Amino acid sequence: MVTRRKAIVMGAAGVGGVVLAGGGAAAIANRDKPEPPSPDAVNGQGRLLWRNWSGIQNSYPAQRLAPKDEGELAAGLKAAVGPIRAVGAGHSFTALAATNGTLVSLDAIAGVVGWEGDTAVVRAGTRLGALGPALAAKDRAMANLPDINKQSVAGAISTATHGTGIGLPAIHGDVTALTLVTADGETVECDPGKRPEVFNAARVSLGALGIITQVKLRTTANRRLRRRVWIEPFEETLGKAEERWKAHRNYEFYAIPFTGLAANITHDETDEPALAPPASPDDAFLEALKMLRNTFGWSNGVRKSVAGMLLGGTEPETAVDEGWKLLSTERPVRFNEMEYHLPPETQLAALKEVQAVIEKERRDVFFPIEVRRIAADDAWLSPFGQEGPRGSVAVHAWYKDDYAFFFELIEPIFQRAGGRPHWGKLHSLKGQRLAALYPRWKDFLEVRRDLDPRGRMLNPYLTGLFDLA
Ligand SMILES: Cc1cc2nc3c(=O)[nH]c(=O)nc-3n(C[C@H](O)[C@H](O)[C@H](O)COP(=O)(O)OP(=O)(O)OC[C@H]3O[C@@H](n4cnc5c(N)ncnc54)[C@H](O)[C@@H]3O)c2cc1C
Repeated sequence: MVTRRKAIVMGAAGVGGVVLAGGGAAAIANRDKPEPPSPDAVNGQGRLLWRNWSGIQNSYPAQRLAPKDEGELAAGLKAAVGPIRAVGAGHSFTALAATNGTLVSLDAIAGVVGWEGDTAVVRAGTRLGALGPALAAKDRAMANLPDINKQSVAGAISTATHGTGIGLPAIHGDVTALTLVTADGETVECDPGKRPEVFNAARVSLGALGIITQVKLRTTANRRLRRRVWIEPFEETLGKAEERWKAHRNYEFYAIPFTGLAANITHDETDEPALAPPASPDDAFLEALKMLRNTFGWSNGVRKSVAGMLLGGTEPETAVDEGWKLLSTERPVRFNEMEYHLPPETQLAALKEVQAVIEKERRDVFFPIEVRRIAADDAWLSPFGQEGPRGSVAVHAWYKDDYAFFFELIEPIFQRAGGRPHWGKLHSLKGQRLAALYPRWKDFLEVRRDLDPRGRMLNPYLTGLFDLA
């Protein structure tokens, strides 16, 4: 047996050798795609470029605010040029934060500023990666984390950012109170007892109600977790996924198209001593999958058997550490993404359909498909709803590759399966179609109108989404 990293690195080198030895003109042509065109760093009016993480959204804000406190924020907002948009880490794939008006960063309004029992009072610009050690200093932790920890607290909750775990809600599910400053400079505090309609609307609010400056966040004991990662046949994973969601604190898997395999990841509480994880093989793993595509993309059969030799039979990896150090990892390879949250009863059938259509129609895809389960909560625009856990399925495309197939081939499957889109990831829904998915859609729009009657926080993307044109 060899470790996954060794197998992948050796395998990728071997497959690369086949390409260099003359593995076919089509394969060579596919190898080095040019960088997508980059917008100018400064536009004709001398305004600096803003761009999201994946590079597909950009704008040239006329004004940028980075206030040090709420007073400075309120004063700045009163005088600001619209549309006013808040930005966290810019990790959303949709145009939520794009503006040619005023871009507001809360990077300077950050940190844990108090405790109410086990509930932390957190400034909204705090990055999740900084929150981990700050909470751990009190031996507390966030109950769950997404794949990465670069996001700001406000940015994460505003799009319903989540991890995986059938008993664990998305991050906003642990928010017990929040403070926001409206576009007109008014400070609004809310919780389930005080302005409950604002609390219900604001926990997942796409940055459309005001600038969130502070949240109270329920925390959990800072326990050590054991992570296990292993690869097995996709059909075996499908058969065991339901029992694994019930058995493990956190369980997710990645279906790997064109390989017949799936990578499984569990996290469970443990008192075992810390055990360092192997160096993150994510980039090597993706490089190997890209090589397989480039070299054997002409034949699904050959691609699958080489993948089996490369990835099957690698031994499981184990790591032990405090949850905040293990649950998020690095994602060094840029991509674009569509993710929908589906009823559990349709999730795995939809996944099979998605994988089948990719293998039939899109041999250029090499990223794995991520599959998770998330607990319910009661925020009005939470895609997880109140009706029980939802299952998410996420499809990725390398940043140099075409992602139009998300809309043409994948989204119709998610929609037929009764899915709701991730607010920060690519989707095409707007207006009535969203209203049909969210029973409190109209109530949300009413709160939005009350807090921002002049629509100063609406950029063209939100105007379309809310059907307010
Ligand atoms: C590599 C990568 C991995 C990811 N992994 C996951 C994952 O595992 N799970 C998941 O659910 N999502 C994931 N995402 C999506 C990501 O978590 C969300 O898009 C999240 O909203 C990004 O946070 P941000 O701080 O970058 O916010 P931005 O993208 O900058 O902003 C998001 C929204 O929040 C609003 N906002 C920001 N700050 C404020 C504020 N102070 N007040 C009011 N509104 C505000 C913005 O206006 C915008 O509407 C991932 C994205 C990437 C690029």
